[in-house]
Formats: sequence, C-alpha cells, structure tokens
Amino acid sequence: MSRSSSFSNLPAEPRLGVFNFSAGPSHMPQEVVDHVREELAELSGSGIGLLEHSHRGPHYDDVNQEAGDVIRRLSGVGDDYAVIFMPGGATVNFAFLALNYLHDGGTGVYLDTSVWAGKAIDEARPIGDVVIGYDGRQGDTFTCPDATRSGDDLAVPTDASYVFYCANNTGEGTWYTEPPITDRPIVGDLTSDIFSRPWPFERHAMTIAAGQKNLGAAGCSVVIAQRDFLAEASRRIGPILRFEDHEKAESILNTPPTFAVRVIGLMAEWTEAQGGPTAIAERNADKAGLVWNAIDASGGFYRSRAERRSRSDLNVTFHTGSAELDAQFIEEAGTHGMVNLKGLVGGMRASMYNAFPRQGAEVLVDFMKDFMTRYG
Ligand code: PMP
Repeated sequence: MSRSSSFSNLPAEPRLGVFNFSAGPSHMPQEVVDHVREELAELSGSGIGLLEHSHRGPHYDDVNQEAGDVIRRLSGVGDDYAVIFMPGGATVNFAFLALNYLHDGGTGVYLDTSVWAGKAIDEARPIGDVVIGYDGRQGDTFTCPDATRSGDDLAVPTDASYVFYCANNTGEGTWYTEPPITDRPIVGDLTSDIFSRPWPFERHAMTIAAGQKNLGAAGCSVVIAQRDFLAEASRRIGPILRFEDHEKAESILNTPPTFAVRVIGLMAEWTEAQGGPTAIAERNADKAGLVWNAIDASGGFYRSRAERRSRSDLNVTFHTGSAELDAQFIEEAGTHGMVNLKGLVGGMRASMYNAFPRQGAEVLVDFMKDFMTRYG
C-alpha cells in the first residue's frame, strides 16, 4: 500500500508567529506536522494510529520500507550500501561505531573540529586507540580542513580503522566543503547537514545522522553504510550493538522507534518534493548569507569565531564581544518572537535548517541592525 504524502514544493512558512532558531529539535514544515497529526489518529485507513501499530505488521513494514527508499534516493547510494534506522541519537551511534570497529584493537582517527566531534572522541577513548588527525581550534577561531590541501593537513596512520569527521559543526558554525581526503574508510557525522546540500555519500564508508534537524525526529539515527564495511565489524559484541545485525534485520532487530522512523521518512519526502538537496542548498545559502552579511557589514560590532572559509549555511554563530550584551540580545530577540538564539559555545547561534523560513533570517537581520543602532 502506498501512502504517498504529496508535499508541495513551496518554501516552508513561519508557524505560530515564532521564529524557532533551535539547533535541534528544530522547525518543521506545517504540512509535515499536519500529516503526522492525521497519521497519529489513523495510519492509512487501518483503524489504528501510527503510534499504536505493531512493528511486526504490514503497515509498519511499509513505513520502514518507504523511509528507507526515500533516504536511498536522496543520498544516491548504490546497492552496495545499506540504509539502516538505528536506535538512539548520534552520540549513541558514536559509541556503537567505536564498539564495532575499535573493540578488537583498531585505531580510530578523529578530526576534532567541534563539540560534537569531541563527544565522538569521548565515546571512543574507553574502547580503543584514538588519534586526533586534525585540530579545528586555531586560537580563538574554529576551522575545518582545507579541501584544496588534498588531505596533507591531516594526520592519519596507514592502518586506521576509520577516519571520523563531523561535516557540519552545529555549535561552532563551521562546515566542510567536501569530505576529508584520505584513503582510509571515512565515517561522516551528518547529523546537522544531511540533505541540506548535495553530498558524495559514496565517499563515506559510513554516514551517521540523527533525525532531529533536517529529518525532524530525535532518538533515531539514519546510518548509510557500505555493506563490506559493515561486515568488518567486531563479533565480540552483542547483536544489538552491531550495525550489521540491524541491517540484516532490516532495522527491526528489536522494537524500533516507529514514530521517529515515520517522521524521518516524511521529512525526507518533503525534502524530495522541495527539489532535493540541490534546490535546498540554494535556499540555505541565501538565508545564511543574509545573516553572515549582516555580521560582516556591522563594522566589527558583531563577529564570529567561525573561520570565513569554513562558514556553515546552517548555523550562523556570532557575538558582540560582551557576554552581557549577548545576553541582552538573546533576551530582546525573544520578546520579538525569535527564540533559541543562545549559542553552544557562547554568544548567539542562528540555526536555519532546510525547513526554516527565509522570513526568519530577514527578521533577525532587521533586529541585528536595530540592536546595533541602540547599543553600538
Ligand atoms: N552531531 C552533531 C553534528 C550534532 O549537532 C548533534 C546534536 N546537536 C549530535 C551529533 C548529537 O546528537 P544526539 O543528541 O542525537 O546524540
């Protein structure tokens, strides 16, 4: 049975009079929320609501299959790759990653560009050898490896089990312009940028992306992995910890987060209806450009610790140089309907994912100018 959702290709609109700059969970398109609401009451004429369906029944089989198919289409991977819905968010899967590949004595290389790469390192250290292949903090500035340097700025032992990187550094406001260059298997954390721009998923051995940003629902991660890489994992861990066992069970090894999988599938369908990552990337660049330009045009009143070359189109980070003034900015912005602007590494962070309306960026820029006039 098909439950084609037929979402529109119109850009997402503001909802409920609030601009939610949250880094995740984050703003969702109204039409997806409406669709979820209907399915909560009843899933495709079955007489049973989405949350109440058995994960062993035909209706959930369809939910699972449809979500996997749309993720496969958007990522463009071939049959040599598996698409798996893993329980838990990204951090849980960082721990699974280390257990699968470092448990038998392997070395994991981590490109340390952010708080979230740091969390992945924290999960790996108790399990195996960790090598920091790149340090993304240069003085007070956040940066990512330079794609023009063909990997010569990375320290990667020739026998590394994998090289982990975080493609979009949600807290710092930096991103990679392409995956790092190395001949060891690459594991990419795409939690905050999946399907926000075209990305060469087949350069990764594994992609990990938790759902709560561009895919809408927390507590479940999309894992896209080369089948050969899955087969290399340790057998000295239990099945629930092994990616390959989840893949063989078609993401129903135990009771899966059924609701999250459905929301992820719907958000991916909405992404496809929008024209997919290529069309969406243009909109994201336009929205982020408005805010980055306002920072640049402020004569130093606003500044960012994100290095210009690595600026993200999804999380724009900035501060005034005064913690008190930053707090004032965040509070006043809140009274004007712009919420969740507090940054993870101090200052402000405007997270504007695929479904975030352009109008939100415009309103923020107007407010930034007004605030500068009053306090500059
Ligand atoms: N990676 C990135 C890039 C993130 O932004 C986040 C959460 N903001 C995580 C990992 C952690 O995700 P979770 O909370 O699902 O473990």
